Amino acid sequence: MTRVHNFSAGPATMPVEVLQELSDELVEHGTSGQSVIEMSHRSPEYEAIHTETLDLLRSLWAIPDGFEILLLQGGATLQFAMVPMNLAPEGTKAGYINSGVWAAKALEDAHRVADAYQAWGNSGEGLARMPQASEVGVEPGTAYLHVTSNETIGGVRMVDFDGFDVPLVGDMSSDMLGRPINWDRFDLVYGGAQKNLGPSGLTLVVARSDVLDRADQKVPNYLRYSFHSKANSLANTPPTFSVWAVNKVLKWIGSKGGVQAMEQRAIERSNMVYELIDSSNGFYVNPVEPAYRSHMNIVLQPSDPSLTNELITEADDAGLINLKGHRSVGGVRVSIYNGMPNDGVEAVVEFLSSFAQKRG
Ligand code: PMP
Repeated sequence: MTRVHNFSAGPATMPVEVLQELSDELVEHGTSGQSVIEMSHRSPEYEAIHTETLDLLRSLWAIPDGFEILLLQGGATLQFAMVPMNLAPEGTKAGYINSGVWAAKALEDAHRVADAYQAWGNSGEGLARMPQASEVGVEPGTAYLHVTSNETIGGVRMVDFDGFDVPLVGDMSSDMLGRPINWDRFDLVYGGAQKNLGPSGLTLVVARSDVLDRADQKVPNYLRYSFHSKANSLANTPPTFSVWAVNKVLKWIGSKGGVQAMEQRAIERSNMVYELIDSSNGFYVNPVEPAYRSHMNIVLQPSDPSLTNELITEADDAGLINLKGHRSVGGVRVSIYNGMPNDGVEAVVEFLSSFAQKRG
């Protein structure tokens, strides 16, 4: 089999070593006589995987005591509703930095279930950079300020989380375990596993213990963080395959030097693409202010947009797939998550460079 280089924004490329291990172990887990994906989620074998996954997450991402880790389902999309339902009960407000497509979706759902407001954004400018804390209008009575640490479609990244005097909630779907974070600033972070951590089906929520039980009485059990926290994320059947696969990706991340090494690698690899864009004499453009450029999702466009489709077709033919920008913005998007091997990055840089030479 020849593996393609897959630049999808998620589900995304996983380390091939992990895929191989999953394949080797799929039919029988240890000497249990059964597959992990067949066994009861109440069995000691599954519980060991579950607990180890929580431990690996805590140590790799340096999650302090006082925070709980929940393994949930429903994707980051369900968190758009669960966060305000749980953290902004009646009598409080929820502020949102509206930095792009994903932040706007989070705000839309927050409006349905809580007293939510936009604290910054909604201008063209908002899509090219993130705000400074001093530009964000936090209203009195705000329970949390929601930030999208990395806008997967816009390719814009929050550089740091300093200077806010309200607790933050972070949608970290596309940079979870791709960068260390300052937990002091946050009440909660969330994201789906399918970008940096493994297959889809698992949603990670990391929350300060004292915010878990704030939901109003009318919020149903399944949508309450406390329901899951009291049951150690085993209130009902968990996505056992995803947890098992993420467990293996976490060990792989550890073997590569951990989250700090992932961040350093992401900086170097995204810079290779940005350097190519910036040295292309305007053949390629990236609309994001340099300081806010994503390390995970690099968006670019040939300055002659009629070349975009040609570029994507040629790339496909060369085994570089899923380079098409999100349907809402067009252009090209190169997503480089933790699982992407270096030769994928080298291949895309070489391809983009030779395309510019041929057409420029
Ligand atoms: N937020 C961000 C920043 C995302 O990139 C995505 C998925 N691309 C989502 C939320 C939605 O995630 P899910 O598909 O897990 O619901």
